[in-house]
Amino acid sequence: QGLFELRKGDGMRLVLLGPPGAGKGTQAALMCRRLGLLHISTGDMLRQELQAKTELGLKAHAYIEKGELVPDSIILDMVRAKLEEPECENGYILDGFPRTLVQADALAQFVELDAVIYLEVPFEIIIKRISGRRRCPKCGVIYHTSHYEKSTCSCGGLLYQREDDKLETVKNRLAVYEAETRPLIAYYSQKGLLRTVDGEGTPEEVDARIAALLEP
Ligand code: AMP
Repeated sequence: QGLFELRKGDGMRLVLLGPPGAGKGTQAALMCRRLGLLHISTGDMLRQELQAKTELGLKAHAYIEKGELVPDSIILDMVRAKLEEPECENGYILDGFPRTLVQADALAQFVELDAVIYLEVPFEIIIKRISGRRRCPKCGVIYHTSHYEKSTCSCGGLLYQREDDKLETVKNRLAVYEAETRPLIAYYSQKGLLRTVDGEGTPEEVDARIAALLEP
């Protein structure tokens, strides 16, 4: 039996790992629809906090705009509180968390993960994807300028480019990924949790690969 059958009823607990622009948000949304899981994106949570001008949001903003990581203690308090909510009981996909070994160790203290899906995407593709990425502020859907030319979302929201998707910040985010997050590949591989997926191609193609990987 594959992971799918074994865990679906219990609520799978998955992590999506990969560099910025690997398609974690897009794939998490597709997987959640297919598997009935909750999508937990720490980036989206921080952006919501910022929009609401909470103390946490304002603190995080200084790091986000430079393409740096928000300190582990802030992220861990936020994620721990989220995972204690009843809506998490039926399983979830963590997108953008953990991003450091400290975060991964802390997560292991309170959650037993089923799998970590690593989206592998070459550097040139990452740059292309991020530079054309546009986001809807109302519903959170992500578009790419090469596939979608309109400036508004199907829900009516006016699409925008994330401030930290501009080239200079992206370079820093990729350097931070290499130094802080890439070590998690070996970390989860050693724990026998890592499943590597080729992240090139359309979202549907990648989704089919993920589905196949989790099936018998
Ligand atoms: P994302 O939308 O996942 O690309 O996240 C946007 C930004 O939020 C990142 O560049 C970080 O500054 C911050 N962030 C999101 N998740 C984390 C995390 N797990 N640890 C530290 N910073 C994070």
